Amino acid sequence: MRVLIVSDIHANLVALETVLRDAAAGGPIGALWNLGDCVGYGPRPGECIARLREMEALWVAGNHERACTGAIGTDDFNPDAAAAAQWTKQRLSPEERAFLDTLPEVAEETASDPGLKAGAASGPVADPGLKAGAASGPIADPSLKAGASRAGFTLVHGTLRQPIWEYLYSHEAAMGHLQLQRSPFGLVGHTHVPLIVIEDAGAPHGCELYRFGDGESVELSGERRLVINPGSVGQPRDGDPRAAYAVYDTESAGVTLHRVEYEIATTQKRMEEEELPRRLIDRLTLGR
Ligand SMILES: [Zn+2]
Repeated sequence: MRVLIVSDIHANLVALETVLRDAAAGGPIGALWNLGDCVGYGPRPGECIARLREMEALWVAGNHERACTGAIGTDDFNPDAAAAAQWTKQRLSPEERAFLDTLPEVAEETASDPGLKAGAASGPVADPGLKAGAASGPIADPSLKAGASRAGFTLVHGTLRQPIWEYLYSHEAAMGHLQLQRSPFGLVGHTHVPLIVIEDAGAPHGCELYRFGDGESVELSGERRLVINPGSVGQPRDGDPRAAYAVYDTESAGVTLHRVEYEIATTQKRMEEEELPRRLIDRLTLGR
């Protein structure tokens, strides 16, 4: 099964549709996992929410989901983000806002059964202490590699220390997160920068951080715990304006990062029509 992993769509429907097409071109998508901030900044929040619900996405809330329902205030947002959050709040229906408020801040997922849909596959997370062979019980997919055969993922927007707020940029934040991560693999968003964290007791900071580049893959051998950030679909900030997403292939037990060009000008035109802040429009071209 191929699991599409997206984050920080930010109401950029053109980017989302392009990512869905690009990912499907590589083979059928069995599940969709979203790491938060589907809304905020961009011009089509309702349509992006509808698209993800249609695909039964497993979805954790980001700070923007919380802000646009009024669940949290926007005092900690910069003025442009606060203005966009207010605009989004007015644009969404009461039903859409109520739905966003039901989203959890942390989700655990196993993706062990290709027959199960996203959201329906939730189950107990494998103990990261278990070694291959020591795991009892049937293994759902014999083609899965040792370790990944009981792959457990923890999904959170920021970090497990501060689920909707903390940016996982530093070794310190990574270690703080890993101390709370019970599963072998973690998935985070929020920074809008693709990243791989590999736990390494021998490393000076206890882990290594790597930029996750277009076309690169990381193997889920289960030997070391990992945290992966798939970057942002709708507002990349690593200097590359192309939409970013990742695909987890349960058969090869690997996660691959992809970048894809989308019609940035179309999204920008819609933002102009909605009179969203100029800086938010311009940054899409720059990827910052
Ligand atoms: Zn975001």
